Amino acid sequence: MKIPFNKPHLTGKETAYIEQAVQSGKISGNGMFTKKCHKFFEEKYGFKKCLLTTSCTDALEMAAILLNIEPGDEVIMPSYTFVSTANAFVLRGAIIVFADSRPDHPGIDEDKIEELITSKTKAIVPVHYAGVACDMDKIMDIASRHDLFVVEDAAQAIDSYYTGKDGSKRPLGSIGHLATFSFHETKNIQCGEGGMLVINDERYVRRAEIIWEKGTNRAEFFRGEVDHYNWVDIGSSFLPSEIIAAFLWAQLENLDSIQKKRKEIWNSYWHKFNNLADRADMQLPFIPDYASNSFHLFYLVCKSLEQRTKLIGELKDKNILAVFHYLSLHKSPYYNGKHDGRELPESDRYTDCLVRLPFYFELPENAIRLICQIVDGAFRGK
Ligand SMILES: *Cc1c(COP(=O)(O)O)cnc(C)c1O
Repeated sequence: MKIPFNKPHLTGKETAYIEQAVQSGKISGNGMFTKKCHKFFEEKYGFKKCLLTTSCTDALEMAAILLNIEPGDEVIMPSYTFVSTANAFVLRGAIIVFADSRPDHPGIDEDKIEELITSKTKAIVPVHYAGVACDMDKIMDIASRHDLFVVEDAAQAIDSYYTGKDGSKRPLGSIGHLATFSFHETKNIQCGEGGMLVINDERYVRRAEIIWEKGTNRAEFFRGEVDHYNWVDIGSSFLPSEIIAAFLWAQLENLDSIQKKRKEIWNSYWHKFNNLADRADMQLPFIPDYASNSFHLFYLVCKSLEQRTKLIGELKDKNILAVFHYLSLHKSPYYNGKHDGRELPESDRYTDCLVRLPFYFELPENAIRLICQIVDGAFRGK
């Protein structure tokens, strides 16, 4: 048995919808399938305004433009994240102020944010790692006291929730001023390359649409709101074609069944590892009371780099591909000279010790059993 790390899931309707888009004669962006996708998210999750993009990276770049990030502005985010979270703001000249991760979870340590705020801070970008919520009450409170924007990097957080202190349960992506999602082929819902910007603050809706359409008010023109369209702001071509949106629609229609299956896989891993008698050295995923799980990935945190290397090697010997994840951005070749020198030990620990196990829709139960046996053996030093 050869077990890959990921295998993009197809629902079976993708090519039929693409055919329909092609036959309709309108395959550029913002057509019927794009509107269906926007409506789906706006209705199901109460997002104020959604705009499909060609990637989450693009959605983050749109967010940085929309917030008027300028050279010298500071943006606070975890160091343990994907490069695009930071790069999108660096493209506008921002200085990234990296925060450490939590000891119990790779997400940003909410208690380490406030001490990083200066008069130059413009935004906080929490990343809902593994689709598990950051403590958004804490983050939104800090942001409102210091008059900062919050952009949720919800790339991995589709269909996941945060329960606030007042008991309200809100979808991730609906809480910050802006939020970004990814539909890259490694994510729960995918269209190869794709993403979405969510605008929850009414004040940014109109300009977001203009930035999305190359700095023009073409979307208003097509709605008949203006009699010609013009160049009115900066922007770029951030919208995907209808071919991509048609593919994505086939996935969204099946969101519930995809999530149900991923939940079964996640729970199967969880029960097996949680029941291991001797798992003292193994840090399992932690889901705080206020958070739900998007069932995006299953990870373990080893006690050392050596232990992780050994574990990945033993799985590889059996044709099973397990992989590590981010490398602390504050130590990256591009940014380490720009970082202010603070140590971020938790971020470095996840860099060295976190391992992600195979996780995809078609992953069979006997593969999960085999993986757990091998991991158990490796942790016991067998
Ligand atoms: C996947 C991911 C991205 C980038 O998504 P793309 O759609 O590939 O641009 C950004 N941030 C996080 C946290 C991610 O997991």
